[in-house]
Amino acid sequence: MTAPIYLDAQATTPVDPRVLEVMMPYFTEKFGNAASRTHAYGWAASAAVDKAREGVARAVGAVPEDIVFTSGATESNNLALSGVMEEAAARGRDHVVTTAIEHPSVLDVCARLERVGLRVTRVPVEPDGIVDPERVAKALEERTALVSVMLANNEIGTLQPVREIGRITRERGVLLHTDAAQAVGKLPIDVDAMGIDLLSMSAHKLYGPKGVGALYVRTRRPRVALAAQIHGGGHERGRRSGTLDVPGIVGFGAACALLQGEGGAEESRRVRALRDQLLSRLESALPGVAVNGDLERRLPGNLNVSFEGVESGALLGGLPGLAFSSGSACASAKPEPSHVLAALGLPEARRRGAVRFGVSRFTTPEEIERASELLVAKVRELRSG
Ligand SMILES: *Cc1c(COP(=O)(O)O)cnc(C)c1O
Repeated sequence: MTAPIYLDAQATTPVDPRVLEVMMPYFTEKFGNAASRTHAYGWAASAAVDKAREGVARAVGAVPEDIVFTSGATESNNLALSGVMEEAAARGRDHVVTTAIEHPSVLDVCARLERVGLRVTRVPVEPDGIVDPERVAKALEERTALVSVMLANNEIGTLQPVREIGRITRERGVLLHTDAAQAVGKLPIDVDAMGIDLLSMSAHKLYGPKGVGALYVRTRRPRVALAAQIHGGGHERGRRSGTLDVPGIVGFGAACALLQGEGGAEESRRVRALRDQLLSRLESALPGVAVNGDLERRLPGNLNVSFEGVESGALLGGLPGLAFSSGSACASAKPEPSHVLAALGLPEARRRGAVRFGVSRFTTPEEIERASELLVAKVRELRSG
C-alpha cells in the first residue's frame, strides 16, 4: 500500500530534510546543555541556540533578545495571556479582548482567566471569517490590558487585519498579542510595522520539528511586563525556565532560515496555485461545493469546503488514501463541533460537512490531480447512496 497523500499542512508539516540534517549533530556529538558555561560542549550548544534565535527573530522582524523559546505555540499562547494578565491585573487592568475563532490554547486560557476573576470580551467575526477592527475598537475599555487576535486561522485559513488592529491598540495604549502559528513563513510579518507586542510561533507548522516554538515579547517601546509561568533555573532571561531543547531549537532556526532563503513569496505562490487547482477541479466536477471563509484573504495552502449532502465523517472514513481532516487536529482530543464554523454562523449541515485540505511545500501537482479524482468519485458515491 502506498502512503496516503498528505493534505493536512495546517495540522503539521513534515520536517524538511535540510532542517533534519542541521539538527542531527545536536543529538550526537554536540549534545551539550546550552546553559553549561564551563566547557566547550555548553559553548557549542549555546552558540547554536544564539544562531537559531537570530533566524527566528528575523522571520518576524524582531531582535533576538525578544525571542523566548517554548515548547510550541500552545505554551507561547499560555505564556502571553497568563503572563501579561498576571502583571496587568496586579495594576488594576483586568480586561482582555479576543475573538470567537482563536485557537483553543487562547480561548481556554481566557476561560481560565475568567474563573480567577478577570474579564474577557470575545469579538464575533463576520460571516466571511474575518474580524472587523471596528468591533475590536468598540470592545476596548478603560481597564483593557491586552488584545489577542490570531494572524491566520488554523481551520478556515482566514487572515485577520492585525495591522489595522495594531494601529488601534497603539493609540489606546493596549498591548497586542497575535497567534502567528499558521502565518509565519506564509505571509510577510513585521512586529514593528504591525504594532505587535507579543507573537506566538510553532516550528512544526513551518517544516521544523514538533515540540518547539517561541514567543516574541517586545522589550522596547513599550516594554511588556510578563510574569513567567514556568519557574526554575531562570533560562530565557527568567521568562521561561527549563533546559533548552537544543536540537529542536536548531531545527526551528534552520526552518526559519530556509523561509528567507527561498523567498516565502515564491513558495506561497506555488502553494496557492496548487490549492486553487484543487478547488477548481472539485468545482468543475461537482455541484454544491461551498468554500467556508473568505477565499481571497486566506492562507495560500488552506481550503475548507463543504460538499452539499455529504457528512465530513463519511468522506474522511471513505478515503484512506487521502490524509485530510474535518477542521482542527487540536480539537480532536475532544470531538466537539467546530467553534470556528459556528462563529461564521453557518447552517448545521454546512458545518457537519466541512473538511479541511492543507497544501504544503512538498505537495505535487500530480498529488492534487489524484486527490481531486478520489474526492470527486467518493462525493458522487456518497450522494447517490
Ligand atoms: C498549531 C497551532 C497552535 C498550537 O501550536 P503547537 O506548537 O502545536 O502547540 C496554536 N495556534 C494555532 C493557530 C495553530 O495552528
